[in-house]
Amino acid sequence: MIHPRSIGFRLVAWYAGLLIVVFVLVGGLMYAGLHSYLEHDLSAVQFRRARQIAGTLLGNVETTGEAHVVNEINAWFTPETNDRFIRLTRADGSVLFVSSSPPDGSFDARQVTPLATRPQVPDWRRETLPTGGRLLIASVPAVSRGGHAYLVEVGASLAPIEALLGRLLDLLGSALAIVVVIAVTGGYFLIRRALAPVEEITRRAERITLHNLKERLPVLPTGDELERLSVSLNHMIARLDDAFEHNRRFIADASHELRTPLTILRGEMESLISQAKPDSEIQARAGTALEEVVRLARIVEGLFNVARLDAGEAQKECQRFDLAELTTSTAEQMCLLAEDKGIAISCHAPQPVFVEGDRARLKQVVVNLLDNAIKYTPEHGKVDLLIFAANQRAVLEVADTGIGIPAAAQPRIFQRFFRVDPARSREMGGAGLGLSIVKSICTAHGGEVDFQSREGQGSRFKVQLPLAPATS
Ligand code: ADP
Repeated sequence: MIHPRSIGFRLVAWYAGLLIVVFVLVGGLMYAGLHSYLEHDLSAVQFRRARQIAGTLLGNVETTGEAHVVNEINAWFTPETNDRFIRLTRADGSVLFVSSSPPDGSFDARQVTPLATRPQVPDWRRETLPTGGRLLIASVPAVSRGGHAYLVEVGASLAPIEALLGRLLDLLGSALAIVVVIAVTGGYFLIRRALAPVEEITRRAERITLHNLKERLPVLPTGDELERLSVSLNHMIARLDDAFEHNRRFIADASHELRTPLTILRGEMESLISQAKPDSEIQARAGTALEEVVRLARIVEGLFNVARLDAGEAQKECQRFDLAELTTSTAEQMCLLAEDKGIAISCHAPQPVFVEGDRARLKQVVVNLLDNAIKYTPEHGKVDLLIFAANQRAVLEVADTGIGIPAAAQPRIFQRFFRVDPARSREMGGAGLGLSIVKSICTAHGGEVDFQSREGQGSRFKVQLPLAPATS
């Protein structure tokens, strides 16, 4: 089904519309031309007969007598059997002769209205009779040698012409229907073929994201506008790739450069605290400064991770491993953190679930989700981990009974540096990078992450990854 606003639909509509207009114009001209030709032909025949009557019969009417004229007309022209109308009118308006109606009853000759004034020159007219039937009548004024004026009217039914034109109209109507069908189906296939590369370019363009800016759109060497468009788009993607690459390198270099001084600063602060007098103001202040340094180091680490993920390092090493085992062991390592808050972690992994990917990166996914679950769950809450396989996917669920995420914030939760409550996250040491790192790693592994959350009731994050192919 094509969309009414698509180029394909609009072109087919225009193409079919134009073809119909041209067809109607040509058909109309043909109809009008044939109509006038047939009428002209019919009127020429009627004029010829009227002139014959005027010249040969009425010219000598004084010598032959009017009765002779009437007999001659009946003998020569037999108006009734030839479906012809003939009327001779004297100058005073009295009728000398009028033919009777034809045997098929196509018209009634007596209903033809007499002309109000006698025309001076030959003329013709169409007349529609009250009881049906249309006639074309030629009128020729005649004057006998004795100077008597007459009007000769000879007519014929227009029915045969109208029947012929009606047939032509039917034929044009059927041909128009065929033209419409051919125009629409032919146009649809032609335009579909012409626009097929656009579909392909769109499909490929949709696949290009920040993580695969090295990919390019297909360029068909057709030499047309589409080739130029793909080439230009490819140049644009290359420029974007350069710009992102530059950006990425800058963040990676900056965060890398910051790591060493921060480690030194941290060491210095720790030794300052240990050397300061216990419970002194210096120790308290140095403690606060150390907290900030630790936070800064975490942000820098996050930035460094983000930059490396953007550079396509999300899956540096690819190995087959059991996600259930990785999650269980990570949960065990982190349970101290939970115990501090009296949070119970339960891990349900009934069966091994094998995936293929970078173990260290996927561990980071588990750590970040678990860390958030613990961070945003009040004391004595619960965190449940669930690992299973379903529909060829490995599924990891991290559910907590924590504060939940407000509906308004949910669409932005995976954005970098987004925090629902910056003050609160800051207190907990979060910079808003954890979930964006989770998303990047999942995407790079061909998986996805989503969540359900209700404010005040808790959240459930669900990671889905492709299962590793079975080993033989
Ligand atoms: P942060 O380092 O601040 O935790 P994240 O990217 O991990 O950053 O998370 C972004 C924001 O999403 C957090 O600031 C927090 O408000 C919210 N959030 C993440 N996980 C949870 C959760 N399990 N429960 C409630 N809020 C969450």
